[in-house]
Amino acid sequence: MTPTRRSFLLAPALGLVPFRIESSLKLPALLPVTRLLFGGDVMLSRHVAAVARKQADPAWPMRGVAGLFSSADIAFVNLESPFSDRGRTVEDGMVFKAEPEMIEALSIAGIDVVSTANNHSRDRGSHGLEFTLDLLAKAGIAAVGTGLTAEASHQGAVLQRNGVRFGFLAYTFDQSNGNYSDRDERIAMLDADRMTMDVKSMLGRADVVAVSMHAGWEYYRRPNPWQQKFARAAIDAGASIVVGHHPHVTHTAESYAKGIIFYSLGNLVFDQLQRKETQRGAIADVRFIGTRIVSYGMIPIEIVQTVPKVVY
Ligand SMILES: [Zn+2]
Repeated sequence: MTPTRRSFLLAPALGLVPFRIESSLKLPALLPVTRLLFGGDVMLSRHVAAVARKQADPAWPMRGVAGLFSSADIAFVNLESPFSDRGRTVEDGMVFKAEPEMIEALSIAGIDVVSTANNHSRDRGSHGLEFTLDLLAKAGIAAVGTGLTAEASHQGAVLQRNGVRFGFLAYTFDQSNGNYSDRDERIAMLDADRMTMDVKSMLGRADVVAVSMHAGWEYYRRPNPWQQKFARAAIDAGASIVVGHHPHVTHTAESYAKGIIFYSLGNLVFDQLQRKETQRGAIADVRFIGTRIVSYGMIPIEIVQTVPKVVY
């Protein structure tokens, strides 16, 4: 069978000079843009939960940004409060507990992957750590940075979009928030050597690697030397993106080598109403064509009564 000769005209709207291609082959489809969105600290306990209860809507904390996050190919946040089905509702204090129904906040926003490695990972003890992993799995949300075994906490998760495998890993500078003197090996700690090994191993299973980093000095406006060292080590190891959180305020982004580092995205959902800067955060927006970053930026958000909204 003789193939028919076909000609194609590329649209000037693509920013290309129109030209004709004479070919007997099909023109390959234009490569799609894959958009990744990353949010900072999401704390679904305390006053955040009280406001949601008042609204009789457990998804309430994320309703203001649910549309934006759902539009991403992959949406990530740091889950600062473990879920638990034990004990009474937490109203105040520094030991968080998210009621199981609050997972609807993540689901309504189409969150695909969360970091569970942070200084509140053990707030609900061993049961809370396991319950959180189970609840997230049932909701179809990948969890990175903690696992049922030490090994699993370093495995990360791989999500494929538009034919590209995006790998996620997560680490924290602290896992006890002053409540424990021992160490739970099922929480991945901020160790640059171990992270470098994990990134290299992940590159055998993924085309692009993103590293979540829970670190920094609270309320301090600039990255500290340890944040900088760890983040750059992640890029040196082969990661394309580092997303930081924990300081409760935003830090700048840095283009470093072949990667991009967001040192701190600040709060996304939190009840720190006492300071203006803790009610401002950012959503990192990174777009890929294939495995290449074609654009990146920070979308500013404002937290109004615990609920983030995009600032236009
Ligand atoms: Zn934290």
